[in-house]
Order: sequence, then structure tokens, then C-alpha cells
Amino acid sequence: MKIGFIGLGNMGAPMAKNLAKNGLDVLGFDTDNSIKLPEITMMPSIPAILNEVDIVFTMLPSGLIVKEIVSEFINNFNAESTLIDCSTIDVKTTKEVCQTLSNKKVNMLDAPVSGGVQGAKSGSLTFMVGGSRDDFDQLRFLFEYMGSRSVYCGENGSGQTAKICNNMILGVTMIATCEAFALADKLELDREAMFDVVSTSSGYSWSMNSYCPAPGVGPKAPSDNNYIPGFSSDLMLKDLMLSQNAASETKASTPMGDLAMTLYKDFVENKNGSGLDFSAILKTFEV
Ligand code: NAD
Repeated sequence: MKIGFIGLGNMGAPMAKNLAKNGLDVLGFDTDNSIKLPEITMMPSIPAILNEVDIVFTMLPSGLIVKEIVSEFINNFNAESTLIDCSTIDVKTTKEVCQTLSNKKVNMLDAPVSGGVQGAKSGSLTFMVGGSRDDFDQLRFLFEYMGSRSVYCGENGSGQTAKICNNMILGVTMIATCEAFALADKLELDREAMFDVVSTSSGYSWSMNSYCPAPGVGPKAPSDNNYIPGFSSDLMLKDLMLSQNAASETKASTPMGDLAMTLYKDFVENKNGSGLDFSAILKTFEV
């Protein structure tokens, strides 16, 4: 079986490799032509891939790029083929891209992921999938080659909705965890004691228990490795901007999400947070 894969960056490359490892013939394309992956047949262009496959994955930085690719190459897709977009992009663009594709009888699943680069490498991503239930059922095995869990969320756009809601919670709980460490520090509570109590009490969260922003406390996390990502502050800011845009379009009330976005924007743009793991925002509370 031949599969296309467009966008072979930090996430796309290990995902495509995991498809190849499971015996699929993967044809890849990335605008960065320095990317060479022995497991993948690198193709000279997107149409060269679309000509040959009925299933193509995209793992790209933004909705604008996904939309441009689909608009430019819409006539190169085979009828009844399927685009599976694993990028994190906005719900509105997802629905527009889906409409463009369906006019040409091309199916689409939005299938953003959680689990980061480590999850992509180890094949333990979670996929949240929007689109037709039948397409999901038929193609689910592909998600299983790259992940440990895939959740059908509903019609097109619902995968992206689940993703941005999840990451809004993540941004907010990370900031709350950092604030609590800052207060505990001022009150001279030992960080290890703080972790031991909160991680087993009602203040627990993934941010505290599995990804503790304070170095030397809890299981190994990017805080123990000079905040090398992990999941970067830039990507957290991107996802919080996606959730806030969706909130203003739908008039949802998300004041905590809004504040989390403002704090991450300040961290990335004014406080040297760009390129650091998102848990490094702890530094801004250590004053
Ligand atoms: P990345 O920048 O490492 O990779 C993106 C790749 O797309 C690059 O190699 C780039 O050259 C390529 N590209 C850009 N424009 C292209 C085009 N027109 N045609 C073909 N290739 C093109 O980014 P990443 O970290 O792999 O993230 C990809 C997506 O996954 C993003 O939407 C991101 O939000 C999401 N995501 C990332 C993580 C993470 O931890 N990195 C976790 C979950 C979701």
C-alpha cells in the first residue's frame, strides 16, 4: 500500500517512519530539501505524490499552508482519495479545506495529535479525529501504526476542536502550577514536599504530575534538561491563539484561556521564552 506524507519536520518525519516500519510504501515531500529519510521515498513535488496515492497525510505548520496546498493542487487529487490532516490548525480553515476537497469528491479527516515529538518517535501519539465515521473506521489502522489511541470526535473540525480545548486546559494548568510553585517558594515550602502533596491531592494535573515545571522534582521532564522542548512555548502560544480565535468567533467565554495566551505571548516575545519548553514559563514567576 502506498501512502503520501507532506511535511516531514519534527513530527512528520517520525510519523512517516512509523508508517514505513509497518510495511507501507511511503512517498514523502517537504519544501526543505535537505530532509532525507532512508525509509521514505522522497518525491520532487506534491503532484508527484498525489498522482500515486489514494491516502495522503499532511503535518504542516499552519492552516494557511494546508489551505494553499489543497487549493493549488486540488485537481491532482484522485477522486475518492483521502487527505488526513494531522497538523494543528483552526477549525474554520479545516471546514473550508474539507469543502474544497468534497467538491472534487475527495474525503478528509482532521486528525491532530497529542504526545509531542517523543510520542511521534515512540509511536504512542493520541489522534483526535473528525470526519466521516466510515472513513475513520476504514483508516484507523494507520493511526494505530503511529499512535496508541485514536478517538473519533464527530464531523470534520471536531478533531481540531478537541485538540485546542485540550491545549487550552494544558496552558492554563501549567500556569496555575507555576504560580503555585512561586507562592510555595515565597512561603518557604520545600518543592519536593509541594510536589508530593499536590500530585496526590485535588490540585493534581498532568502539568504537575507528569511534566513538573520545577526542575529536580517529580518524574524526568524538560525542566530537568534546561527546558529543551518537549513542547515549545511557541507551539503553546500558537494553540492558545487558535483557541482564543475560535472563542471569539463563537462568543464562548474563556477568560482563563485569554489570560494564558497573553502570558505566553509576553513570555515568547519579551522574556526569551521562544525555543524553550512551555513549562519554562515558571521562570517568569520566580521573581
Ligand atoms: P516543523 O516545523 O518541525 O515541521 C513542519 C514541516 O513542514 C517542515 O519540515 C517544513 O519544511 C514543512 N513545510 C512547510 N511548508 C511546506 C509546504 N508548503 N509543503 C511541504 N512541506 C512544507 O513542525 P512540527 O513540530 O513537525 O509540527 C507540525 C504540526 O504538528 C504543527 O501544526 C504543530 O502545531 C503540530 N504539533 C506539533 C507538536 C510538537 O511537539 N512539535 C505536537 C503536537 C502537534
